[in-house]
Amino acid sequence: MRAVFGATIFAALLALGAPALAQHTLHTLEQNGPADNRIDLVVLGDGYSAAEQDKLVADAESALGYMFDENPYEGYASFFNLYAVATVSSQSGVDHPGEGISKNTFFDCGYDCANTDRLICCDDQTALQVAGDLVPGFDNAIIIVNDSEYGGSGGTISVISREVNSMKVLAHEFGHTFGDLADEYETPYPGFKFNDVYPNVSAKPANWDLLKWTQWVESGTPVPTPDSAKTTDLAPVGAFEGACYAATGRFRPVFNCLMRNVGAHMCAVCSEALVLAFYKSVEPIDEHSPTSLSVSGAAGDTLDFSVTAISPTPDTMTVEWSMNGNKLGDASGETIGLPVECLNPGANTVEAAVRDTTDKVRLDPTNLMKQTVTWTVTRTDGGTAVDCSGLVDTEPDTDTGAGGDASAEGGPTDTEDDGDQRDSSDCGCDATGHRGAGLLSLLSLL
Ligand SMILES: [Zn+2]
Repeated sequence: MRAVFGATIFAALLALGAPALAQHTLHTLEQNGPADNRIDLVVLGDGYSAAEQDKLVADAESALGYMFDENPYEGYASFFNLYAVATVSSQSGVDHPGEGISKNTFFDCGYDCANTDRLICCDDQTALQVAGDLVPGFDNAIIIVNDSEYGGSGGTISVISREVNSMKVLAHEFGHTFGDLADEYETPYPGFKFNDVYPNVSAKPANWDLLKWTQWVESGTPVPTPDSAKTTDLAPVGAFEGACYAATGRFRPVFNCLMRNVGAHMCAVCSEALVLAFYKSVEPIDEHSPTSLSVSGAAGDTLDFSVTAISPTPDTMTVEWSMNGNKLGDASGETIGLPVECLNPGANTVEAAVRDTTDKVRLDPTNLMKQTVTWTVTRTDGGTAVDCSGLVDTEPDTDTGAGGDASAEGGPTDTEDDGDQRDSSDCGCDATGHRGAGLLSLLSLL
């Protein structure tokens, strides 16, 4: 699905007991933007011999391909940078202790973890170290084991095998990792302590009008919602009983979501939570010009302002320009040219407000999907402003530059919060339940 651009980096392996020097080859699968404004995903491989490194890259592309075919990941692929790290294992395949199979592999992955045949455990610390060495500041890592038997685990690192259904679980696992989504299935999870904090599962509310995803419930939908009311897996959105490891007392938005069954798709509520979560790591604006937020000019100058917004697919990003708090006509492009004659003497403000208007999100209470840039623009010639409502050039000649003597004051900052760092905890489990939740995901989804 994706072109592979090779970039080779050699990294010393520090882990005891491993080869003194190992070769890791970093393959950039998708580079969509600066690391500090993208979600950087690293796929590692275990049990791939020197002759199987191309196979690892192909497997990484397949696994990510399944995820980015799924809603809402498919619309937000440009929010991710994707990497595969080819790491040579001494032997092909991984451990199956239950079958007496033991392999010497780089991340020491093996099935039968905790006496559960489908549960694969690996040396996560070494994997995290290798990922960090090759992609500093990476956001998340995945290990694919070179084995065609179904299995895997969730947690700090998601582990999957190259078996197709195992790969398809990735979109579900990242529902936990990115969206803080709970499992919507009912299979009991002994010892699990339910907290009513998940965006996609609710305890019975005191008032059904206060259901946490009420923005998605159309009028006329019975709430709670009997199974007989369902028209499709994903419709209507209501409150179906049975979720998060319990058949009663916990409610899910739709009859059958990907967070309940790997054969289903992500429901509107889960999709909304994921999109909002993407915006906790990625801001709408990649760049703005002038980079200085303090600009000046005199009559006769035309000042150019621009923002470069990240583009979902379809591109639902909008730009709204204003001057001194008043909307600048119909200017809606990423660049405007503003004649200085439009400005008042002295200080003025020019603002670009960028917002994702996707219909995947109906409620964005903290404005994660909006970002503004505000420039202070000083008119130096002392003239008076003329009405420029029709004079703003939305496609100015970019050769004219910003004009004036923009100072370095302010720097490339914006007026919105940078947003919280994504909480990478794997929800659907309590603080001690990471591995258990991953196990349940894998065992209960099929
Ligand atoms: Zn859901």
